[in-house]
Amino acid sequence: MIELIAFDGDDTLWHSEQLFADTQASYHELIAPYLDGDLQPAAIDDLLLTIEHRNLPIFGYGAKGFTLSLIETAIEVTGGRIAGVEVQAIIDLGKALLDHPVDLLDGVVDVIDALAGDRRLIIVTKGDLFHQETKVARSGLAERFWRVEIVSEKDEGTFRRILADASVPADRFLMVGNSVRSDVLPVIALGGHAAHIPYHLTWALEHVEDADPERLGYTQLRSISELPDLVTDLDRAP
Ligand SMILES: [Mg+2]
Repeated sequence: MIELIAFDGDDTLWHSEQLFADTQASYHELIAPYLDGDLQPAAIDDLLLTIEHRNLPIFGYGAKGFTLSLIETAIEVTGGRIAGVEVQAIIDLGKALLDHPVDLLDGVVDVIDALAGDRRLIIVTKGDLFHQETKVARSGLAERFWRVEIVSEKDEGTFRRILADASVPADRFLMVGNSVRSDVLPVIALGGHAAHIPYHLTWALEHVEDADPERLGYTQLRSISELPDLVTDLDRAP
């Protein structure tokens, strides 16, 4: 019997990565006039990723750190020539990202409603504390969840602490999310269950090479609508 089901937020309950990709596209247009066509967008994206990775231990995950990394990348690729007016425009892109309405994925409300009656549901998400709290509130789902955990990293220690707080053994826990690295591997390592629901975009820093459900011992679903059947199967398992 599964007693506790945890859901990732970004790209599992609501759209996120597409908004970051759209922001990045607007950013390319903003800085293009400085580049004389001698630097391809892919090279800028590579540098941005390097800078984001380097900044993660300082800024943590989320839209604010992303915005600062956009500015830092713009300064670097323009050799410091980026003007204040463009820096302001990048800050405005970041603000629009933070202020964007929450757009739930198809099927989320029905699945949460179907599962909420029988067991405890929680959200476990990384990102800016304030931004993620706002998204949970705007999602209209907050009351269906027993707890909302906004964490700085999803690793074995984080999930071990969540299970201890809930007094649930790992084999009665199911994590649902779009990232094999953050939502699946640490849970499997603890002896829990994990359902991977891929989103059409994956942030490069969440990518896992050769992730194989059968070999690693998790379930891959095409959409969240398949989740109730998986929970039924897990409940029946000895
Ligand atoms: Mg996610």
